Amino acid sequence: MTPDVRDRADRPARVESHNGVGGGAIPESDWNRALHLIKQADEVALVCHVTPDGDALGSMLAVAFVLRSMGKRVVASFGDQPFAVPRLLRFLPGQEMLVPPAEFPVAPELVISFDSSTFERLGMLGDNTARAREVIVVDHHPSNAGFGTLGIIDAKAAATAMLAEQLIYRLGGRLDRDIATCLYAGLVTDTGSFRHSSTTPAVHQMAARLVATGLRTDEIARELWDRSPFSYLKVLAAALDRVKLEGGLVWTYVTRVDRAAYGLPYAELEGIIDIVRRTDEAEVAVVLKEDDQGAWQVSTRSKGTVDVAAACAALGGGGHHNAAGYTSHATVEETMAAFKRELGMA
Ligand code: 5GP
Ligand code: MN
Repeated sequence: MTPDVRDRADRPARVESHNGVGGGAIPESDWNRALHLIKQADEVALVCHVTPDGDALGSMLAVAFVLRSMGKRVVASFGDQPFAVPRLLRFLPGQEMLVPPAEFPVAPELVISFDSSTFERLGMLGDNTARAREVIVVDHHPSNAGFGTLGIIDAKAAATAMLAEQLIYRLGGRLDRDIATCLYAGLVTDTGSFRHSSTTPAVHQMAARLVATGLRTDEIARELWDRSPFSYLKVLAAALDRVKLEGGLVWTYVTRVDRAAYGLPYAELEGIIDIVRRTDEAEVAVVLKEDDQGAWQVSTRSKGTVDVAAACAALGGGGHHNAAGYTSHATVEETMAAFKRELGMA
């Protein structure tokens, strides 16, 4: 028998929805089916989207801890080649549970996917996941059209970590400091340190449960937001030097050559959009980041009136109303022209 989640001291009096008033968006029958699938499986393969952020990797590792403590064989990975945890996330506990994609089962019994809205976002593990007997998709992207065999999807949840926390309780797991650190990384990442409009009472209530385990909010904040190699400042300077303000759009780009000059890895570019988007005169911000393969990873942000997810979805990507992205194989000029067309600016 599963212990009744309501009896647990470390969880709220009831499983609360994103808005804190109860009655979450996910039907009980779907949660029950997820629990059933997990309990039946000997091995559970966990996956999250490529170049994982704090929400993707944090949610996955938190659930991995709990599955492992239930005695499951756990495999956790993401489809990046070369396989490396982004430096920003190296402080996360549980990384010894990660395996490179080559060691991921070719046709798994059960996969749980975290924070990914499509098979494609799973990169080279998309095919393995598609071959799995069952795929539970834990996600909060509005663009998630429901891939896999069971969706634990709530587009109103501020982070996938909120769904991961519920899953943990429902599995009979408890929060310890390591699990809470992983979930907290997801919650702070996706709410922009509790600044975005998605920051509901339920978000702060979850944060309170996590912080109560004794995790170090100061150290996590420093790891995630407040450190970088010196070379980042040089590359940032190059990006800001060529920034353009066109109507309500502010944008810039960073090339492989910029990074190579200072030996800066691609993953270090994540924070540039947060500097560019502060521009008062712009409603929309874009940063084009050239990855190691020469493709442009397009980061877009809106202050609220423009739906950048719609524009990015039309260009083959996706995301949230105010934060979305896609991959472009065109030139900088062509990429920006296409994006402006989608915004109705051209
Ligand atoms: P970022 O600019 O931080 O890389 O991405 C912002 C958001 O856009 C992410 O949380 C993710 O939801 C979405 N996103 C970024 N790139 C892609 C992409 O290539 N495909 C899809 N479907 N979503 C993306
Ligand atoms: Mn997320």
